[in-house]
Amino acid sequence: MLKLVSTLTRDEYPFAQLEEFAGNGEALEVAWPGLERARPRPGRHLWERFAEFLPFERMDARASLGEGNTPLVEAGPRLAAFSGLERLWLKNETQNPTGSFKDRGSLTCVFMARERGEPTLATVSTGNMGHSIAAYAARAGLRALVFVPEFAPREKLLPMTLHGATVIKVRAPDYALMKQTVLGLAGEFNLRIVSGNGPIRVEGYKLTAFELYEQTRGELPDYIAVPTSACGHLRGLFKGFRELQAAGLIRRCPRMIVVQAANNSPIVSALKQGAEHVIPFANFHTVAEAITSGNPMGGDEIIAKARAHGWLAEDVTEAEILEAQRQLAAAGWFVEPAAATTLGAVRKLRAAGRIAAGESVLLMLTGAGLKDLGVLEHQPFAVRESSLDALRRDLARWFSDSSGR
Ligand SMILES: *Cc1c(COP(=O)(O)O)cnc(C)c1O
Repeated sequence: MLKLVSTLTRDEYPFAQLEEFAGNGEALEVAWPGLERARPRPGRHLWERFAEFLPFERMDARASLGEGNTPLVEAGPRLAAFSGLERLWLKNETQNPTGSFKDRGSLTCVFMARERGEPTLATVSTGNMGHSIAAYAARAGLRALVFVPEFAPREKLLPMTLHGATVIKVRAPDYALMKQTVLGLAGEFNLRIVSGNGPIRVEGYKLTAFELYEQTRGELPDYIAVPTSACGHLRGLFKGFRELQAAGLIRRCPRMIVVQAANNSPIVSALKQGAEHVIPFANFHTVAEAITSGNPMGGDEIIAKARAHGWLAEDVTEAEILEAQRQLAAAGWFVEPAAATTLGAVRKLRAAGRIAAGESVLLMLTGAGLKDLGVLEHQPFAVRESSLDALRRDLARWFSDSSGR
């Protein structure tokens, strides 16, 4: 029998009453007895192989856009040197169908909407989740309704409308307030609005933990660095590892590294200051617009888990984020600023001696670079110009330059 469990107080709620958060404001997670007896089995899709770990009755391949199965790659000498970490790995989630890991959670949202006979997928999003929900709704023949803040980049809005979603841009003094207002109105309009941290999305993000388990043959990294906003991704990854551990498939869970922008670090600040509760941020700006939850609901649980499991936490300044984006690009990976934060963070943690040089660290590259072109105004843009007449002369001049490029 499925149930929903409040993540801190462990209060239980009936599964049928599928809410995003518990009455006490805590995050909810799906649980059921006997999960520790779940085992992977043969199957074509990841969700088929790990079906015993998932709460869905029907999982239809026709809901999938081919998410997951993303590359796990060694970062290489340049990024190893930059970070000071000899064993640095990247999980390239930008390779998902809409360019971010959100697709894994959208798949499970479609599974659940289908089971419950809901005609609409509705969400509040700064961009990536809305884009992903719009694509998956299109694939499944469902209606998509996406509430976005004013700062959502055009690159994320355009595909939403192209996929046929109804997009509503809401003017509001800050994103947290806007999200709260929309969630508050949902019941009145008979909408179940999925947030980035709801129990069903978390079941989708769990799949990444299972995929890593398969890709590493159980030899998981010591640390996994996750850019954190609503906290759903982090919770999903860790829930997946915990369930693998409970099933006796792995001996220990990787330790998580919570990464946020210094301009908006409600969880990292709390962890650094030894506080038990989220420290809300408002009226900030960061280039990492995909991680802008200033007061994430359920964040206290992440703080408690970080303490209990010895996780690390680090924030990065705007300059550090842009530098990390350049470093990743120079090594071949073009990611959006939110995704680059982890590289800057692990470099600082290594420099401070919090991570040893030989420990293995995996960075989650959460979103693709093409998703936010406006931010590139802050990056160098050097295009040389020539003409047919001048090309020979210009090339001769440029190649004789010591720079050569
Ligand atoms: C959503 C998102 C995050 C943050 O994930 P949460 O589950 O909200 O913590 C990080 N990076 C990118 C690119 C995202 O789209």
